[in-house]
Amino acid sequence: MSQNYYQKEIETMSAEEMKKLQSEKLVKQVKHVYENVPYYKNLMDEKGVKPEDICGIEDLHKLPFLTKADLRDAYPYGLLAKPLEDCVRIHSTSGTTGRRVVAFYTQHDVDLWEDCCARAITAVGGTKKDVCQVAYGYGLFTGGFGLNGGSHKVGCLTLPMSSGNTERQVQFMMDMQATILCCTPSYAAYIGESLKEQGYKPEDIPLKAGIFGAEPWTEEMRQGIEKTLGIKAYDIYGLTETTGPGVAFECSEQTGMHVNEDHFYAEIIDPDTGEVLPEGSKGELVFTSLDKEAFPLLRYRTRDICVLSREKCSCGRTLVKMAKPMGRTDDMLIIRGVNVFPSQIETVLLKEGYEPNYQIIVDRVNNNDTFEVNVEMTPEKFTDKVADIIAMEKALANSMKIMLGINPTVHLVPPKAIARSEGKAVRVIDKRNLI
Ligand code: ADP
Ligand code: ZN
Repeated sequence: MSQNYYQKEIETMSAEEMKKLQSEKLVKQVKHVYENVPYYKNLMDEKGVKPEDICGIEDLHKLPFLTKADLRDAYPYGLLAKPLEDCVRIHSTSGTTGRRVVAFYTQHDVDLWEDCCARAITAVGGTKKDVCQVAYGYGLFTGGFGLNGGSHKVGCLTLPMSSGNTERQVQFMMDMQATILCCTPSYAAYIGESLKEQGYKPEDIPLKAGIFGAEPWTEEMRQGIEKTLGIKAYDIYGLTETTGPGVAFECSEQTGMHVNEDHFYAEIIDPDTGEVLPEGSKGELVFTSLDKEAFPLLRYRTRDICVLSREKCSCGRTLVKMAKPMGRTDDMLIIRGVNVFPSQIETVLLKEGYEPNYQIIVDRVNNNDTFEVNVEMTPEKFTDKVADIIAMEKALANSMKIMLGINPTVHLVPPKAIARSEGKAVRVIDKRNLI
């Protein structure tokens, strides 16, 4: 059994053909959801929309949105569209922002998801000759199992490492000559750091490509990882509510991720008004699952802020591309009335020659927000001269002020003082209890 996961007939389909395919799937999906998910039927009834009103993608805007609050309301079975006995798996969000949500999968859904991951591995040059080290967590988190399934489909020799035990990761990478590494970008940076400490140079490392996602990371961080590991680093995006990683994946051009839009229809909306925005606008990403059976969310608001583009891609794929999400509406900190994304701070640090090892601490004292950023000195920048440290802190605070419009207090801390992440990095400690 050998299937090609560069699915040309889908991935290079013309816009009209794709729209036709999506429309056919949507009509069926809306009927399936209306008949099997009372929670969503009620939302549709409240909005006065019937399945017959949806004749194609152009009618999608008539449907109500679903939000994470709906998922929590309906927990655990309220959005299930298939009998539980037809389901074979659950996964759950990592709980980065509040109570977990649970998603269900039939075998058909697992296959669909693994196909998406297989497309992602193929797009970075993966074939059955590759050794694919999966260092995303295995378990309720979707990362490990998703890429594991994709790697099997492509026929790679799969190393199901899960996250953590970095020493063992390095040993297996070397002993098994792994060629593709899949994990979060922050863990990739950590593995890179460990390899460097053990004296490995980029040319000693067998890896050729990395597939990194599940958290926001900057272009500067990509360049850092590529240099340390001597690889090409590709982005991958997804969320538990839609399946997991593989909803969108990066190709050789490395300028954004192609959405697997034969399965997931993407829209960008204004997060305040809900209005659908034209291509190229920045807004909140919304996904409609076109053919999942068990947990088929329609117009799900991801809270991820990003931009969609249909510009021609040099790889030949016509699938719509999403830019790197710059963070979530709920990752965005409002400090002294100014919007701050952790990714902006990361950009400044990497430009100034620091590593992406930092933590933002926000508090409120006497009704004023305090804004501190702890940043690790790199071994090269390390000094114990107080005057030098103060000057470096001032210079960094100044660059951050230019980027953000507000002034943080920067504390430089010794190398290794900030805990490393084996999964999603914790960048923000907000002590203000605003929720
Ligand atoms: P949680 O919401 O608890 O973090 P998930 O593990 O399902 O649960 O995470 C999905 C979220 O992770 C996405 O909505 C997005 O915010 C983030 N994410 C996933 N992949 C990427 C990526 N490549 N770039 C930026 N953010 C990403
Ligand atoms: Zn492309």
